[in-house]
Amino acid sequence: MVPDAPLPAEEVERIAADAAWLCGIPAPTGHEAARAAAVRNRLVELGLEPHLDAVGNVVCRVGGDGPALAVCAHLDTVFPGLEPAPPVRDGARLAGPGAGDNALGVAALLLVARALATDPPSQPVLLVATVGEEGLGDLRGARHLLETESVRALIAVEGHGIDSLAVGGVASARVRIRMSGPGGHSWSDQGQPSAVHALVAAAERVLAAAPPCVANVGVIEGGTAVNAIAERAQLLLDLRSGDPDQVGHALARVERAARVALPDGMAVEFEVVGRRPGGAAPESAGLVELARRARSAVGLGAADEQLASTDANAAIARGVPAVGIGVSRGEDAHTEHEWIAVPPIAHGAAALLGLVRRADEQRGP
Ligand SMILES: [Zn+2]
Repeated sequence: MVPDAPLPAEEVERIAADAAWLCGIPAPTGHEAARAAAVRNRLVELGLEPHLDAVGNVVCRVGGDGPALAVCAHLDTVFPGLEPAPPVRDGARLAGPGAGDNALGVAALLLVARALATDPPSQPVLLVATVGEEGLGDLRGARHLLETESVRALIAVEGHGIDSLAVGGVASARVRIRMSGPGGHSWSDQGQPSAVHALVAAAERVLAAAPPCVANVGVIEGGTAVNAIAERAQLLLDLRSGDPDQVGHALARVERAARVALPDGMAVEFEVVGRRPGGAAPESAGLVELARRARSAVGLGAADEQLASTDANAAIARGVPAVGIGVSRGEDAHTEHEWIAVPPIAHGAAALLGLVRRADEQRGP
């Protein structure tokens, strides 16, 4: 494949251009088809044979049949809009919602595809652009991949995070809490219980009950008019911990907190809408060591090895060795102000290629 060296400038620009192109194709979780089609077409142009699987992942097998090394980058973004919002290139920066998370990750996947198309691997590799990684996608794409393909190891590629390696999964649970009550007129029905008031109070109790898990009420919505007592309101809560047991314990506490102290006439529904497994993965040790070597071979310093929440979690849950690797560094992921730096791609993408090559050379279980 490629020698261990930072990528030449023209290759870095090619990856940045691909990231900009992909970033301009909206891909909210659950609506990844347009971006998936773009990736698929590009792989066909490379002479590869990608297909869309049953959940919408783009899956491209290289190097023959048998248990494969899966290299995954997620297609979806946290931004719900379906209007194209092309990113802005300003010198060394590419700015736009989802530029780094994960348009750049998918662009780096295309780099791996180019490398494997010209210099095929010695063992099977699956190049996969996955759906459903963000938000309530609940790793739908990665889970489906692992259920339907024999995967011997998995590399999750993210645009951000060149200074870290994901060596285990942050466990999480996503919960929807819904309040419903009688509603009414804000003046003539004063005293009737409000779903919004009950939900806000419950949110405070829930956030107080969550630690040591990290908790975030990411969405809160409800009510119909300023002068109406709300009939309905709901929130979405994200609970995370490096220790999967802590998430389980916190879920029980949070549910109790949501259900107590409700006003008469108020009903609550508590629904777990997503569960990500997590924890450290001892089976991943060999793969993590290969990632360390690939990084140092292109001149990157020691990574901050941490737990993360990526497609790798789905592999870890099944005992499949996995590691998450980042291509560059930037800021403000999951916001409209997201940006990613272009120059570090030279090292980050080279380390990714070096990791794929090393994992390909590795024999045995
Ligand atoms: Zn993300």
